[in-house]
This record gives sequence, structure tokens and C-alpha cells, in this order.
Amino acid sequence: MLKVKRTNHRSAPAFCCDICGQPIEEISLGAALYTSTSQEGEEAKVLIVHKPTAEYLLKGVDCWAKAEKELLELESLQALAAGRPEPQYVPWQELSHYLARALRNGQFDEQSFQQIDIQDAILTVAGPR
Ligand SMILES: [Zn+2]
Repeated sequence: MLKVKRTNHRSAPAFCCDICGQPIEEISLGAALYTSTSQEGEEAKVLIVHKPTAEYLLKGVDCWAKAEKELLELESLQALAAGRPEPQYVPWQELSHYLARALRNGQFDEQSFQQIDIQDAILTVAGPR
């Protein structure tokens, strides 16, 4: 999920884990898990989560395992209703790869990045539309 967090009197956008709600402070430590799709036009449910790093596992938090369980249960119900075999695993991508593909699919390329001043990670406040 996306959130905006106010820190040091400034608002900044951030990706947060769909399971624990905490920011994913390093994109390389995040993942996108999703249900599989087999029918044309079918949409997958996607959960953005922390990878199971030692830091999170020591806290007793395994966001990946919780997301995997939730998605497998959802997909098992869908498979049962459609007469398909139960899923054995949940597809996933590194969060950075998932985001890059989502941006590309939204016609946002490297040139588009260069046109935006993202050096300052703070959210610019826009007026009403
Ligand atoms: Zn998490």
C-alpha cells in the first residue's frame, strides 16, 4: 500500500507492507506476492510485503508467510469454485521488478523519471484540481 508519512514537519510518500503496515524502507527488501491468473482479463490480488529478513523474523513478524497463506487460501477457494487444481505456491517478484514493470505498463519510462525532480523525496503539495 502507499502511505504518506509526516516526519520532521514534511510529508513523504512511501510504500508500506500490506500485512504489518510498516514502511518498506529499502525497496530491495520488499516483494510483491500475487494470486495467479489463467483466464483472459482475470485480475490477481497483490500484496506488497517485507521479505522475511532476520530483523523481522526476530521480532516474530513474518509478513511474507502471512501474505502467502492469505493468497493461497483465496486462490484455493477460487480454484475449488472453478474446478481447477489447488495452487501449490504463490507467484512473487522482487518489489523493484514489480514496480518497474508497473511503471512501464503505465507508459512511465526513464525519460519520464528525468522530467520529475525526485531528488527531494518530500511530497509536493498540489492545489485543488
Ligand atoms: Zn511487513
